[in-house]
Amino acid sequence: VPRTRQARPQGRYGAGPVEVALAVDVGGTKLAVARVGADGGVLDRAVAPTPTGADDGPEEVWGALRRLVEGVSIGDEAVCGVGCGGPMAKGGEMVSPLNIGGWRGFPLRARLAELTGLPVAVDNDAKALAVGEAWQGGARGRADFLAMVVSTGVGGGIVLDGRLLDGAGGNAGHIGHVIVEPGGRVCACGALGCLEAEASGTGIAAATGRPAAEAGPEVRARTGRLVGRAVASVANLLDLPLALVAGSVALGYGEVFFAEAQAELDRSARLGFSRGAAIQPAGLGPDGPLVGAAAVGWRALGHDVGVR
Ligand SMILES: [Zn+2]
Repeated sequence: VPRTRQARPQGRYGAGPVEVALAVDVGGTKLAVARVGADGGVLDRAVAPTPTGADDGPEEVWGALRRLVEGVSIGDEAVCGVGCGGPMAKGGEMVSPLNIGGWRGFPLRARLAELTGLPVAVDNDAKALAVGEAWQGGARGRADFLAMVVSTGVGGGIVLDGRLLDGAGGNAGHIGHVIVEPGGRVCACGALGCLEAEASGTGIAAATGRPAAEAGPEVRARTGRLVGRAVASVANLLDLPLALVAGSVALGYGEVFFAEAQAELDRSARLGFSRGAAIQPAGLGPDGPLVGAAAVGWRALGHDVGVR
């Protein structure tokens, strides 16, 4: 297990220990655990592949996560915050990440609470990213924005009027299932032409027959256009002026992706209030998921993380 350990920083209120969160990021490709400081700095971390083989049941996945937690936590953390792929039952009591077949209705929050003895808060990973961007990233001081991830899948979290939107089941913000191509590719959800079916790494690989990272300029530009189209609908629907985008596909495609996304957003968000909406790379970079997970924990404890 690759990991780094750094000296503990001084507390910002004196020489005592800083408040540290234990951050857990559960994704379909990898599991990551870190200690995150009060300023959003990642202190110690460990990463391992997510067990997703046909024989990997709930305890195999849990065992891999437990080993990471035991390797990183030193017992002084104030809270454990978790970002996990959706869907989930509200509060993360039961998680069923689409890309982790071994977990269907897995009691993640209770297991982590038992293991760590800490208060544990679980939220959708893209909603966690939104909280992290408000706390320490590109949305500091912003009350209305969308944070989204375009990687293996496509996810999103929405902050409106300074409040993180939950929805009836806690699943608000699933921008990956906005239709961007009527009659398009079949999505994992069963609908046709969802953003996730057309613009996720999985969708691009299925359409082109090679890994998304190897896509040519036309595919990169089209992916940006489709993301911009979905964001335009959200901007018009919610009077929302800013979208921050993370994830290996978006960040890997880079300049051409963001230029095309912005151009499509400019073409399609034309109401007085939605004109000028911006789409930009997320501010936290590769640490976003872990910083977001920590922010989920602090928010649950009632600390000010920039969103209610
Ligand atoms: Zn869908």
